[in-house]
Amino acid sequence: MTSEKRVPRKAEVSEAYCVACGCCVKACPLGAISIYRGIKAVVNQDKCIGCGKCAKECPASVIEIREAAV
Ligand code: SF4
Ligand code: SF4
Repeated sequence: MTSEKRVPRKAEVSEAYCVACGCCVKACPLGAISIYRGIKAVVNQDKCIGCGKCAKECPASVIEIREAAV
């Protein structure tokens, strides 16, 4: 048996370019994103499973799905 390593993937918001529209919050099936003080989206890294739904919905294209640092 080979042990396959799976690197967890997480959403990452380029906060400087986020317009706080909230589309990603609505798109996330796990409730992993919230809008911080009405100015930027913040991802709860513990909840995020890297599904990419938020990134698809972001009109500003400022969400990337990256391999999480372990
Ligand atoms: S990648 Fe998926 S789980 Fe993670 S924040 Fe985006 S929609 Fe939510
Ligand atoms: S969808 Fe994009 S621009 Fe809108 S709040 Fe989320 S990260 Fe920011």
